Formats: sequence, structure tokens, C-alpha cells
Amino acid sequence: MTSIQAELGIIERDFTEQVSAASSSEELQQVKVAFLGKKGAVTLILKKLGSLPPETRPAAGQAVNSLRDRIEAVIEDKRARLDEIESEAAERSSMVDVTLPHRGRSGGGVHPVAQLTHDVIEILAGLGFSVALGPEIEEDFYNFEALNIPQSHPARDMQDTFYFPDGSLLRTHTSPVQVRSMLRHGAPIRIVCPGRVYRRDSDPTHSPMFNQLEGLLVDRDISVADMKGCLETLMAAIFSRPLKARYRASYFPFTEPSIELDIECVECSGKNPACRICKGTGWLEVAGMGMVHPNVIRYGGIDPSIYNGFAWGIGLDRIAMLKYGLTDLRILFEGNVPYLLSGRSL
Ligand SMILES: [Zn+2]
Repeated sequence: MTSIQAELGIIERDFTEQVSAASSSEELQQVKVAFLGKKGAVTLILKKLGSLPPETRPAAGQAVNSLRDRIEAVIEDKRARLDEIESEAAERSSMVDVTLPHRGRSGGGVHPVAQLTHDVIEILAGLGFSVALGPEIEEDFYNFEALNIPQSHPARDMQDTFYFPDGSLLRTHTSPVQVRSMLRHGAPIRIVCPGRVYRRDSDPTHSPMFNQLEGLLVDRDISVADMKGCLETLMAAIFSRPLKARYRASYFPFTEPSIELDIECVECSGKNPACRICKGTGWLEVAGMGMVHPNVIRYGGIDPSIYNGFAWGIGLDRIAMLKYGLTDLRILFEGNVPYLLSGRSL
């Protein structure tokens, strides 16, 4: 046996050992490079052939070529088997086991203010009101002037306003929607205007942004009794029971007369002198309202000698707190997920 043949024998044993240990196509490729690559064992031995005596070269060359062919055949065979195993594994890992139990999903909840807005709109829709919306960035005209609050009017001090440099402002109430709607649709009109409003107020019981809802009804021969009937119906529907009402004279520039509505305490009905909700008074302030001032009707493009009406505003945040028994206003604004997920639904 020549030394070349002895070397080939060692190479073939090494190869057989390594190829059977290769368990992935990546490892198999490393084995191929180690034997057939540019610096592989078989390639190196081919280079040695030139230094052999001429009479032994053909036989040695044949032996090397034959080993190279065998190695290539074994590698191809092994590669085919590994490919098959690997593609099966990939298929298994991407399979979905439809018999596994699902992970479960936590239920969503509707924000109390959204829920209340929805409920109030439903109730008022039953009384013939439709929803009207307006911009949150308002012009002075719609927010003040057309609501009977001219530039010099002291009532402007009642509402600390956020102004933009161009004189526009963040609306301080939803009332501008009333003027816009009257100008657009004329009379008779019945609208409910929910929305965010803004004032420069911030303490534990006031947020600079809060949710208001106003209603406006303009028609012929409307009386204070119509207004009381509408508001008492609304309050009874919101709190799911009839509630005693109390009316107090008040002042708003856009209504005459102006009235504030108190309802009996939804917590104690006036029976608990230590009630934390009504502070023992037995009454809760829930709405400001009044007969629409003739000037406002006129600004709305409607003749106040033919039409009159009433308007009211409620604070949705406060009503939501009373309805859902919340003690801290901030829970409505802080995205308290456990609370919000606690399960009300529309
Ligand atoms: Zn009370």
C-alpha cells in the first residue's frame, strides 16, 4: 500500500465519522468544506499528486477521484435526508393546535361619561331631540357675543377662558352649538349638544377640560312648565326613578328668567345629615337652565316675537359621578383601567 492510499484510508474514516455526526445541513456543509473545500483534505492530497513518481500517479489519481466521488455521493444523500427532517420540523412548529384551550380575553368597559352621554341622547331622542355638534376651537362671536355676553359684559369674568393669539378660544360651554344650529336650521328646533368644554380651572373638584351637555328647544308658545317637565323627565330617566326637584332663581346672560335645578340627593334622599354627597342638605345641584333670552334667539336668526324656547346645561362628569357613585372626579380623567374595565356596556 502506498502512503497516498494509507492517507486516503484515514481521510475516508474521518469523513465517515464526521458525516454521521452531522445533525443539521449547516454542520453537513462544514464537513463538506473540511474535505472538498479549497483547503479540504481531499483537495490538499490532489495537490500532492504532482510530487509522486510518474508511474504511480495514474493509480493514485484514480484513487483520490474515486474517494472524492464517494464523499460527494454520501454528502448529497445525507443532505437530502436532513432537508426532509428540517422541513418536517418547520412544518410542525408552524402548525396550530386547534384543540388547545384559548388564553381568554378581558372584557372592555365603556367610560362612564361616554355611557352617560349615550343614555342621555337616547332619552332625549325619545322626546324629539337630535344631536348637534360644534367645534371646540370657537370664535368669540359664537361663544360670547351671540349668547348675549358682549365684550364689556361682566359675565365674561365668570368664565376664565383659554384664548389663542388670533383671538379664537377654546369654547367655555357647549352653548355656541345652539347659535350655530339656530342659524343653520331655523325654528322650530330641538337639539342636544354634548361635548368637551374648557376653562382655566384646576383643583380637586374642577378639571380644565370637562364634559357638558346642553339642550335647546325653540318653538311657539313654550313655557317654563314645558322646561320643568322636560328636565324632570330627563333626571328621572338618568337615575331610573322619579326624583323631587327644587328650582332656584339664578342668573345667566343667555336666559331670562334663569333657574338652577336641584334634585333630591340620590344617595340619602335628604335622610342622612352626615351624607357625604349632599353634605346633609338633601339636595344636589344638577342643571342650569332658563327661557332663552330674546337677544340670543335673534342672534340665531329667529324672530323672538314669534318663537321662544328654553335651554339647559348639565355637567356630564358630575352627573356620571352621582349616577355611578364615584367620590373623586379625577377617576374620570386618569385612565384608571381596572375601573374602566369594571364592566358597563352600551
Ligand atoms: Zn345626601
